[in-house]
Amino acid sequence: MKLYNTLTKSVVPFVTHTEGRVEMYTCGPTVYHYAHIGNLRTYMMEDVLERYLAFEGNTVNRVMNITDVGHLTSDADTGEDKMLKGAKREHKTVMEIAAFYRDAFFEDCRKLNIKKPDTVVPATACIDDFIRTIEALLDKGFAYIAGGNIYFDTSKVKEYYTLTSHAAEDLKVGVRDDVSEDGNKRNKSDFVLWFTKSKFDDQELKWDSPWGVGYPGWHIECSCISMANQGEYLDLHCGGVDNIFPHHTNEIAQSEAYLGHAWCTHWFHVHHLNDESGKMSKSKGEFLTVSLLESKGYDPLAYRYFCLESHYRKPLTFSYEGLDNAVKAYDKLVNRIASIVPEGEVDAAIVEKYRGEMLKTVGNDLNTAMGITLLYNILKEKVSGNTKRAVIAMIDSVLALSLLDKADAKRAEAEAAARAKAEAEAALHANDPEAEAIEALIRERAEAKKAKNFARADEIRSELLARGIVLTDTAQGTTWARQ
Ligand code: AMP
Ligand code: ZN
Repeated sequence: MKLYNTLTKSVVPFVTHTEGRVEMYTCGPTVYHYAHIGNLRTYMMEDVLERYLAFEGNTVNRVMNITDVGHLTSDADTGEDKMLKGAKREHKTVMEIAAFYRDAFFEDCRKLNIKKPDTVVPATACIDDFIRTIEALLDKGFAYIAGGNIYFDTSKVKEYYTLTSHAAEDLKVGVRDDVSEDGNKRNKSDFVLWFTKSKFDDQELKWDSPWGVGYPGWHIECSCISMANQGEYLDLHCGGVDNIFPHHTNEIAQSEAYLGHAWCTHWFHVHHLNDESGKMSKSKGEFLTVSLLESKGYDPLAYRYFCLESHYRKPLTFSYEGLDNAVKAYDKLVNRIASIVPEGEVDAAIVEKYRGEMLKTVGNDLNTAMGITLLYNILKEKVSGNTKRAVIAMIDSVLALSLLDKADAKRAEAEAAARAKAEAEAALHANDPEAEAIEALIRERAEAKKAKNFARADEIRSELLARGIVLTDTAQGTTWARQ
């Protein structure tokens, strides 16, 4: 496929270190609160990417961390640990908070058809590994101790800003102005690998280390967890655009300093979902979660449809009006699929044609909206019902909108309702002395229609109507009632 690479700032062919195998790493959630639907946009687009790569025939090994320590309220190593903040808010321990919001996150993912990665690792399970890597960085001269903390020295790497187009000077203001600078740092862009002395002594989780009791910084966890599970060469690293700096910039610096060679070849970043006020937030205004959408009667998969209609590299504004439109479009699509009669041979040439279309369109920088267009195109084709269903199944193996399941459920519902109605009518007609004669006429009318003798069919309808009997034609057959 062709995919935009933040590293080269261009759409390039996606190539892996081992043909047919993709080592894919995803920055996981910081589990101090529910994920908002913006966070979930990122995970959803990463999920579509993984599914697309599998559709192309690759084996994808996907690894994700769970941040349960070290992510401070400001990405510039200042502020409080987000986990501690969550624990205080709810009067619980950090590990209780972590377990609760990790489970809530995966429950949201399940509702949105976001697959759980093959390997999910919490940061707190890898402390020894972080310590070993930090020791190696100190040995190699890429890290230093100051004021009791261990810092990564960004002046020691050749191209620290490789992932961002900012000049070093710009990034000085990129670091938020509302936080005080850490006087221990040799360079403004240096970052903490290990905290032993921090301004908040009530940090709940602390571990022994060669430098005293403390806890890891946020960035080191992703590098270590990826290297431990995916080796020295990573094909694809994903996250939201806010991760580009400083998180991913720091990951590259420390991983390559540690390894002594280039680390990850392709960087995939999803643009933000904003609310109408601008930025999506967990603290201000309405906190938009999957549960909130459900409580308002929305199917989470309609939100998935809403996201798939736009390109991942464009910011997307959430509004209920926009979501309502997505609900309508999604329902319409499901209804149209429900009306396909599953019959006839599968035309392999048509399936192949659509596979080619998928590779051309969705494979061009993950154009999910074109994937939806292909669904509408197959609905219009003059091919067997089973061919349509086979193509829909193929496209939906990537989009994951549960289209056939929903359509089949709708069909089954309609059939059950029709059966119940027919049974009720049969009961009603049981004592009607004319029932047998009327039903014989209805059968004759069906035969006449089949033989394209519409004049006779109309005649029977009029004849019955004159006797006060009304016919209703449904997909399941004709019913009758006395006026
Ligand atoms: P966090 O739990 O804060 O570490 O964020 C989890 C993921 O959501 C990261 O990949 C972020 O880059 C991403 N993210 C944060 N805010 C948004 C947003 N408004 N829209 C889309 N993705 C976001
Ligand atoms: Zn990360």
